[in-house]
Amino acid sequence: FPRNTPSPADIWQMDHDHVLHPWANFGPFEEKGALVIARGEGCHLWDAEGRRYFDAIGGMWCTNIGQGRKEMADAIAAQVERLAFSNTFVDTTNEPSAMLAAKLAELAPGDLNRVHFTTGGSTAVDTAYRMVQYCQHCMGRPEKTQIIARNMSYHGSTYISQSVGKRPGDRVEQFRYKLDGIHHISAPNPYRAPEGMDEAAFCDWLVAEFEAKIAEIGPDRVGGFFAEPIQASGGVIVPPEGYLRRMREVCDRHDILFVADEVVTAFGRIGHWFASESEFGIVPDIITCAKGLTSGYIPLGALIFSDRIWEAMAADGGRWFTSGFTYSGHPVACAAGLKNIEIMEREDILGNAARVGALFEARMKRLEALPMVGQVRGRKLMICVENVADKETRALLPEDLDVGTRIADAAEAMGLMVRPMGHLNVMSPPLTLTAGDVEFVGDTLERAIRQVA
Ligand code: PLP
Repeated sequence: FPRNTPSPADIWQMDHDHVLHPWANFGPFEEKGALVIARGEGCHLWDAEGRRYFDAIGGMWCTNIGQGRKEMADAIAAQVERLAFSNTFVDTTNEPSAMLAAKLAELAPGDLNRVHFTTGGSTAVDTAYRMVQYCQHCMGRPEKTQIIARNMSYHGSTYISQSVGKRPGDRVEQFRYKLDGIHHISAPNPYRAPEGMDEAAFCDWLVAEFEAKIAEIGPDRVGGFFAEPIQASGGVIVPPEGYLRRMREVCDRHDILFVADEVVTAFGRIGHWFASESEFGIVPDIITCAKGLTSGYIPLGALIFSDRIWEAMAADGGRWFTSGFTYSGHPVACAAGLKNIEIMEREDILGNAARVGALFEARMKRLEALPMVGQVRGRKLMICVENVADKETRALLPEDLDVGTRIADAAEAMGLMVRPMGHLNVMSPPLTLTAGDVEFVGDTLERAIRQVA
C-alpha cells in the first residue's frame, strides 16, 4: 500500500491485484489490467497519464449533463454540511427527498405521481417486481404473480432484476438465474425479424406472441410486463412502430401492470424527460429510473408509479409495502438529483439532445456505407453499430473475433471511447455534445472500423 500519493502505475497495480471489475473477462484483464481514469470535464475524460478521450459511452449511459460541474459539487457539499443523512423510513423525511419526488411527479406522464427511492436501477427493477405482485394482491388478484419480459433485455444485477432480464452473455446457466414465474418473449428487433417479415408484419407477430404467452400462462396469473422502451444493453433495439402502444393495450385488456424500465431512456437520452409517453405514446403503470436522474454524480434510483397503484395499496388491510433501503431518499443523492434537473431545465439540455442527437443519428447512419457495418440503429443519443460478416445475409461475425472490442480499442487509441458488446459498438454520449463533437465521433469511429475490418 503506497504511503505517498500513488503513481499511475501504483493505481494500476492495486486495482489489478484487488478489484473484481463488473463483467471483466478474467483472461484479458489479467494481462492488460484497467485504464486508470483520473479526471472528467464536460464530454471528456483524462487518464492518469494525461491522455484525453471523448467519452461517447457517457460513463455508462449516465453522465447526461457532462462531468466536472462546480454547481453540482456545491449543491452536494452544501447538503452534506446541512444534513448528510437521515432515513426516510415510515414517517421521517427530508427536504431534498420530498422536493425531488414532487419534481418527478411533475415531469412524469399521466397519473404517475408517487415515488419510491432506491439506490440505483437494479434495485428499482427489483422493487418494481415486488410492487407488481403486492399491488395485484391488493387489487384482489393474488393469483397474478407471473411476469412477462423480453429476450435481449437487461434490467440490472440483483437476483430479481437479472432474472427479469435475459441476454445470452449473462451466463444464465451458471447462476441458475430465473425465478419461477418469469417468462420471456421475443426481442422486438426488426433487424433480426424472421425472414421475409416486414416491420408491420413483425409487429403483428410480436403482439400475437405476447397474447399467446398470456393465454399459455393463464390471463388470471400474469401480473406484470417489463419492457425497456428501447432495449439498451441488448444492443439499442428500437421496437417496430406501434409496438409499445399495442403491448400496452394487451396489458390493459388483461389487467397486467406495464413497467417501463427507463433507467437509460429517461432524463434526456432521446430528447425527453421520459421516453414512454413522449416518444412512444404510452403511459406505463410504473417507471423505473436511475442513471441520468443524477447524471452519475451520485447513485440514486426511483420507481415512479401511478395514483391507482398507490390507492390500491393504501386501501389494503395491511397498509405497508415492505420495501426500503437505508439510502432510500438519501438527502445528498436527492439534492444532486434536484440540481441536475435544474441544470437540464435552465440550459435546455433536452433541446440540445434532440437537436444535436438528430445530427448524431444521421452521422452514425452514414457508417452503414462501410462493408462491415450491417446496421446503425437507435434514437438521438443512444446509438448502436452492428458489425456483421455479410451485409446481405446479416450473418453474425464469429464471436472469438471480438470485433466490438477491437474497434473500441482502435478508437480509444485515437482518443474516442465507445462501448464494445460482442460484435456491436454502442454509444450514449453526454447530452451536452456539440455538432463538432458529432463529426469527431463519426470520423474517428469510421477510421477505427476501417482499421479493424
Ligand atoms: N435497467 C436498465 C435498462 C439498465 O440499462 C440498467 C443498467 O445499465 C439497469 C436497469 C441497472 O441499473 P444499475 O446499474 O443502476 O443498478
